[in-house]
Amino acid sequence: VGRECIHIREGIDSTLVLLKHKLKEKNIQVDLAIPDDLPTIEAFPSELNQIWTNLIDNAIDAMNNGGHLQITTEVDHEFLLTHVIDDGSGIPASSIDQIFDPFFTTKPIGKGTGLGLDIVQGIIRHHNGRIYVNSQPGRTEFKVCLPIHNEER
Ligand code: ADP
Ligand code: MG
Repeated sequence: VGRECIHIREGIDSTLVLLKHKLKEKNIQVDLAIPDDLPTIEAFPSELNQIWTNLIDNAIDAMNNGGHLQITTEVDHEFLLTHVIDDGSGIPASSIDQIFDPFFTTKPIGKGTGLGLDIVQGIIRHHNGRIYVNSQPGRTEFKVCLPIHNEER
């Protein structure tokens, strides 16, 4: 399957449906702010879904009982920026430089493979995008930047 012209919301919505059970189990409130009139991006839909799945999975793992997951999207020049924010544990400064490394995990054996963010980074590169992380105790934000479809810039 090749690239398709898609609205960012599609993949995020379907990922949240798949993770609905986990989110409910952990008492996590989801706050979505994705405008309907955003420009589309040219992307491989299943790869995009993998980005959201891996980021939201990590956010869920970082929150104990109760928490907030916030997902917002906005336009910034030729890019669509999607922020995935949780109010979980945060990432210690000592490990922030390693989180994108393959097999880096702080989770117990059987729970984490340490491949989630490595895969995310690979997919984002494949789409000529960028990912940034900003974290402090109680707040972690991943910012995913994906190029807007050429004809809509
Ligand atoms: P895994 O989830 O299998 O451990 P990942 O590559 O998805 O592997 O993540 C690597 C590590 O980055 C995690 O083990 C965790 O320590 C840290 N991490 C990623 N996302 C978050 C987050 N939202 N909050 C806190 N820590 C995170
Ligand atoms: Mg993970």
